[in-house]
Amino acid sequence: MGILNSFTNWKTVRYEKHLNVMEGLGKCPDCRGRGFTIPVSAYAVPYECPSCNGSGLFTDWSNN
Ligand SMILES: [Zn+2]
Repeated sequence: MGILNSFTNWKTVRYEKHLNVMEGLGKCPDCRGRGFTIPVSAYAVPYECPSCNGSGLFTDWSNN
């Protein structure tokens, strides 16, 4: 147990909470139902979400 450990736990809990919300909405947790990812850089092009194959659905995400 340490600061790093509790920080990792906090991140895991936060992610699981996000998953639960997205599951309730039926949306892909990775792209939040958009079907594509948001580019980090302003020059990057949005690409199809590989986790849900661009459908944005939670069911497709959980199948992958
Ligand atoms: Zn997705």
